[in-house]
Amino acid sequence: MTDTETRPSNFIRQIIDKDLDSGKHQSVQTRFPPEPNGYLHIGHAKAICLNFGIAKDYKGACNLRFDDTNPAKEDIDFVHSIQQDVNWLGFNWDGEVRYSSNYFDQLHQYAVELITKGKAFVCFLNAEQMREYRGTLTEPGKASPSRDTTPEENLALFEKMRNGEFKEGECSLRAKIDMSSSFMCMRDPILYRIRFIHHHQTGDKWCIYPMYDFTHCISDAIEGITHSLCTLEFQDNRRLYDWVLDNITIEKSRPEQTEFSRLNLEYTLMSKRKLALLVETNVVSGWNDPRMPTLAGMRRRGFTPGAIVEFISRVGVTKQENMIEIGMLEVCVRDELNEKAPRAMAVLDPIKLVIENYPEGESEIVTAPNHPNIEEMGKRELPFGRELYIEAEDFKESANKKFKRLVIDKEVRLRNAYVIKAERCDKDADGNVTTVYCTYDPETLGKSPADGRKVKGVIHWVSSTDNVEAEVRLYDRLFNVPNPAAEEDFNTVINPESLVVIKTAYLEKNLADAKEEQVYQFERIGYFCKDSVDSTPEQLVFNRTIGLRDTWDK
Ligand code: ATP
Ligand code: MG
Repeated sequence: MTDTETRPSNFIRQIIDKDLDSGKHQSVQTRFPPEPNGYLHIGHAKAICLNFGIAKDYKGACNLRFDDTNPAKEDIDFVHSIQQDVNWLGFNWDGEVRYSSNYFDQLHQYAVELITKGKAFVCFLNAEQMREYRGTLTEPGKASPSRDTTPEENLALFEKMRNGEFKEGECSLRAKIDMSSSFMCMRDPILYRIRFIHHHQTGDKWCIYPMYDFTHCISDAIEGITHSLCTLEFQDNRRLYDWVLDNITIEKSRPEQTEFSRLNLEYTLMSKRKLALLVETNVVSGWNDPRMPTLAGMRRRGFTPGAIVEFISRVGVTKQENMIEIGMLEVCVRDELNEKAPRAMAVLDPIKLVIENYPEGESEIVTAPNHPNIEEMGKRELPFGRELYIEAEDFKESANKKFKRLVIDKEVRLRNAYVIKAERCDKDADGNVTTVYCTYDPETLGKSPADGRKVKGVIHWVSSTDNVEAEVRLYDRLFNVPNPAAEEDFNTVINPESLVVIKTAYLEKNLADAKEEQVYQFERIGYFCKDSVDSTPEQLVFNRTIGLRDTWDK
């Protein structure tokens, strides 16, 4: 029985329902098969939520399997980061982590089986010749000169390949299928190639490595995968997936591949190859730069797993290729943080506020709720005194009624504290206000003025003597066009303001103890979290997760 009734269905769930109803399968086994050649990005989150989500809802299991057949581009660091990211999203894989390389011995045996049956051969065409012989979409290909070598000869040649007796690129093992197939992937595809490369799991045991199309279907079958879910670019390859399984002797139940559309998100690149370029050319500080669409970058920026999972659920699963608005992700992040983030006060662009009628040398503690609507989140204490910082933009010498902030001769409330009235200000040589002098009404702590004066505006503040300083990094979209992947050179569309650093901001003292991954709402400014990489007790660093509202087009 499933508990899918409460979840939006999709065409994949309908296939699974049918397979369970018909008795084709008794339970559901899925897998998430990342290649460890980069960090996971938000696109992978779609595949993760789908595979692990289905396993969870149908009380089945989902394997984590590293598709590690291309050691040249792979790295053990990626193996670790991927596991961390899957867990962070809230999912657990069934049993041990698996690797396609676990099956290299079996894969080799199946290759031998295909050779023995006359369904695979060792080919000596080089890469360029191979391209030539393959033909085009409108023209059939030509048979390799080695296509009709006998199985005995091929077995001997394949053995030599395995023993390192040929050079890289000198030959390869190819399936013998159909050089005139309308599916290019069926024109005698390569199954094994020679690579003299150390492998992060198998060391130097192998110098021949199986190709993805040969490896993936067999790994699925070995693991008893029932539903092999992948993205649309593998649609044609499904023929090859099935051909391999049809032509080898394998006991386990037969997996079935179903394709869905990739997640594409505005203002982001989603290919690991391109993301790797951003890292290598130092456009960003690393895979976990908070502007990267990687799960590690989003985590560091303060995005929550809950918001990402909710976003993926809203996107849904279809076969339709489309581009999702970035605003859809941002709404999910804001919705979750508005509910969960404790409030705090911070001044990013400070001017001084002096309360002239506040007793000199004195101070007091005011209390503030951690959340305006959720009492259980408790209260915190804030030091208040004669000298404070306020935001420069919250004061004007004169302004019309629309400006609900501090103006000379007008009143405003200091959030969580008193009503004040501005009297006059000091300016520097350039005419910028440096200090505002005001008076406060001591009767207005936590209550309205007694004589019924209406004070509409509220501004935030931080004690100028009792605070913590921090560097604050304001992050924005990395690209200034919605589809950077469509540009010839994405370097030309990088948003020059994707990172603005404020060297010294003043935060309320409580934030000195901010926990990692805890996002705060800096009241009236946005959501921020302590940077997990660069922040130290001596030099706090905070990242802006996201502003309070979308201001991109304004
Ligand atoms: P990239 O092109 O970014 O390198 P990939 O497909 O090569 O991605 P893999 O590590 O092979 O990356 O992907 C693991 C799984 O995640 C695959 O099943 C793949 O289909 C899926 N996946 C990758 N990118 C997306 C995406 N943008 N949307 C949905 N699923 C994705
Ligand atoms: Mg890939």
